[in-house]
Amino acid sequence: MYEWLFIHLKGELALIVDTSFATDPEGIHKLTIPTPFPVGPVNVYIVAEDDSVTLFDAGPKTEDAWDAFTQQLNRAGFSIHDIDQVILTHHHPDHCGLLDWLLEKKNLPVLAHPSAEPWVTQDADFFAWYHQYFARIFRTAGVDEESAKRAFEVFEVLRHLSCRISLNQKLREGTPIPGMQDWQVVETPGHAQSHLVFYREKDGVLLAGDHLIKEVSPNPVMEPPIRSGEERPKALIRYRESLIKCKQLKVNTAFSGHGEEITDVQALIRRRLSEQEERRQKIKTLMRDQPLTPFEISQLLFPYAQKMEISLTLSEIIGFLDWMEACGEITGEREEEKIRYRTA
Ligand SMILES: [Zn+2]
Repeated sequence: MYEWLFIHLKGELALIVDTSFATDPEGIHKLTIPTPFPVGPVNVYIVAEDDSVTLFDAGPKTEDAWDAFTQQLNRAGFSIHDIDQVILTHHHPDHCGLLDWLLEKKNLPVLAHPSAEPWVTQDADFFAWYHQYFARIFRTAGVDEESAKRAFEVFEVLRHLSCRISLNQKLREGTPIPGMQDWQVVETPGHAQSHLVFYREKDGVLLAGDHLIKEVSPNPVMEPPIRSGEERPKALIRYRESLIKCKQLKVNTAFSGHGEEITDVQALIRRRLSEQEERRQKIKTLMRDQPLTPFEISQLLFPYAQKMEISLTLSEIIGFLDWMEACGEITGEREEEKIRYRTA
């Protein structure tokens, strides 16, 4: 795969890596699908191997997304009938909603992490529990009633843009993928607890989903535990662990869920980790003078955030508070239902 090109440069032997294949590695076709979300379009990928054609992710369930998907699929030289299976990087609606319509055209096996299941099947008990759980989180985080109401309205919109399908196979770290023997499944919980990335070692290709995005820092989205009674997953702590894990992979090109390809994954991971350290310091400074609820911190830190984004900004803050609490840097004080945090 590699073409090593030796050239003499100013009398010295320099080693140049020809990365001309990097933006078009073997068998990978990128389709860019519009979404109604602030993040912009989502990238989904067709990976054509000798034994299989796999679709990684689908767009949200909108007419625009469907039109873009079918047109770009054809332009890449494929039809829906060529696809053998669908694999999800994670369960977010912009990555799976369109499956409802795709599976009506062809009954395809869908593979994803077990944690994606209650989301993509839209399990009624799980969603009832999810609402109850978030109502409690909003109260303890100091979210006012109006804002909480709006957040629940956003959850409903997201459900409409998502799919209601069943999973045919659960993928975990190391699970072999049918027809894709060169690929490894790597669990990367954080942005979503169901998040997986897919690595092809022979040419250093990574299908990174939303774990790595070049232009924006992915949110560690807060999720309730899958089962009542379990501890809530600490999204930012897990996200950082997953970033550090991916530093071990030798990646030439990471194909992301949003935006351009990433060719220097190591540098991007270093940057993300240090941006998080900076944000943590900033939050600590805010809490130095007065104890604050997570909602108060989110309003101070993101004064211009859209009201639609309350649950995302709150997720971000709670992620940081989890991390600081685990390091013993802050303590929480209960004040009726709310919890205010201060530096320890
Ligand atoms: Zn996502």
